[in-house]
Amino acid sequence: MVNSPIMADGQDDTSDQRAEGEPGTSPLESAAPEPETESNEGLEPRTGEEPDCSFAARVATGEATCPIIMGHRDTKVRCGRKLHNAPQGVDEKPVCLMHSRDPHKQSGPALDAFMQEFRRILEYAGEGEVHFERFIFPQLDCAWSVFQAFCMFAEATFTRRVDFRFATFTKEANFLGATFEGSANFLHTTFTLNASFSEATFAEDTDFFRAFFEQGVTFRHVTFKNNAGFRGTIFKQNADFSKAIFKQDADFSEATFEAYTFFVGAAFAKGAYFTSTTFELDTDFSNAAFTQLANFVDAEFQGTVDWQRSRFMDRAVFRRTKFCPQHEGQPSAVFGLASFLRPSEIVFDDVDLSRALFLNCDVSQVWFTPSVRWGTRFNNQGLSLFEERIPLTTEFGKRLQRSGQRDYRAVAQVYQQLKKNYDSRLDYWTADEFHIGEMEMKRLRGPTGGHLAGLPRWLHRWLSLVALYRYASDYGNSYWKPASWLLGALVLFAALLPLPGVGLKRQGIGQTETFASVWRMQDNVERNLWAEVRLVGKGAITSVDTATFQKNAEYAPAYPWGRVLAVFENLLTSSLFALFLLAIRRQFRR
Ligand SMILES: [Zn+2]
Repeated sequence: MVNSPIMADGQDDTSDQRAEGEPGTSPLESAAPEPETESNEGLEPRTGEEPDCSFAARVATGEATCPIIMGHRDTKVRCGRKLHNAPQGVDEKPVCLMHSRDPHKQSGPALDAFMQEFRRILEYAGEGEVHFERFIFPQLDCAWSVFQAFCMFAEATFTRRVDFRFATFTKEANFLGATFEGSANFLHTTFTLNASFSEATFAEDTDFFRAFFEQGVTFRHVTFKNNAGFRGTIFKQNADFSKAIFKQDADFSEATFEAYTFFVGAAFAKGAYFTSTTFELDTDFSNAAFTQLANFVDAEFQGTVDWQRSRFMDRAVFRRTKFCPQHEGQPSAVFGLASFLRPSEIVFDDVDLSRALFLNCDVSQVWFTPSVRWGTRFNNQGLSLFEERIPLTTEFGKRLQRSGQRDYRAVAQVYQQLKKNYDSRLDYWTADEFHIGEMEMKRLRGPTGGHLAGLPRWLHRWLSLVALYRYASDYGNSYWKPASWLLGALVLFAALLPLPGVGLKRQGIGQTETFASVWRMQDNVERNLWAEVRLVGKGAITSVDTATFQKNAEYAPAYPWGRVLAVFENLLTSSLFALFLLAIRRQFRR
């Protein structure tokens, strides 16, 4: 009867004659405007006049009717069905058969009567609304059924298993606050319009395997006391699982979320499986708690996934997880303030983290396998975090702003943690690449505040010690750079030392040789040139002698300016040599 097209028309004549069912069909529609006066007494069985005109006959006989409120809690419309003769103590107050907890409803004539009324309501409503609010359902088998009406199951209780396999709800389905005391089977169920399961409680196994939500669905504050299965479920529009509680396994494997997805504050007490799950737009897991396994193997996030302030208390696996946000400048995954209680159990394997944000999240002990891909820095020198590149105008970029510029200190902290992480795993190579990032943050930081901060900041960026460190050896990562500088310095000083006013002084001879003095010594240009070349050679030897602290060199820089130059050369070359040695040591340490 519930199956396929349920026609309202043509049933009208029979429904009019029904003795007890009529009021339940659409109490909201028939609500009189003046029932307030007599319906203030809560759930007391009423003996007075009814708000619904269709109760008139019953009112005339003075018969009490079911006081359960239908629709929203704040409406005054009551069920009004005939009271059911339930065993003593089963119901708090006398109610109708539909609202009674009478165990006899599970079988026999009571079950028949219940189902007859259930079908009648559906048939009568046609494509309108059906109200099953606060009904106490016995075992319900609605497999393959098509519900053409707007179904209101708010706060209904399903005392045994319910079966909606392959059923179709062509209008909205509202299970707000419903209680499923038995297992709930929504396998392949289609929800054509919005569906709500907010605040519902599922006491036994629940299965939405390959269910199809064509419009939005909310599972806010829902409680799954047993396994919750959403394997292969398709959510065409927004899906909201905010504050949902999963007390056993939650399986969203191979599900597809085609719009925005919310798991804000959701609590996963056991395994949370998002294996091969696809999230096509932004996903919000902020404040979520994963008590045991969080499995995101092969999951695909095509928008930004937000794990801010979420807690991973045990294992989490991000293996082959695809982070591929569609828009440039958009982060792929945000872990800000997320906490990893057992960091060594958090695995990132074969994932692209070039656009992940780890700001304010301790990643110093998280396990990043060698296949993890990070962003690279300009010129391929070192690794770069997205914190450094994200536009400050974007939603997540704004949080990185401090005193008008990027919060380089905070970014440097992430670099430090990653350096420490890779160092502790003896992967010095990667650690060094993060070291470059850390030093870059130190260089870029500089003075903040004030209108005139621009100049000192510029100076800090380009002329500070840390900037010089960068020029000289890429923050200790390059040994050929200081070596080249060293060679360059020697050549430079070889050319500088014989300059007029500086000059070279031969041991025991008072005359100072300079480029100018040598030029006039010979009689033709060719010889003069050769004399100059020899002088450059002497300059080179002197330059090397000076750099290597030779005391008894044949030539010495002349006093006073040659000596000043020599001291300067000494300082420079020994610093460069030290940097060279440091870089060598860094490359080959173990
Ligand atoms: Zn009732």
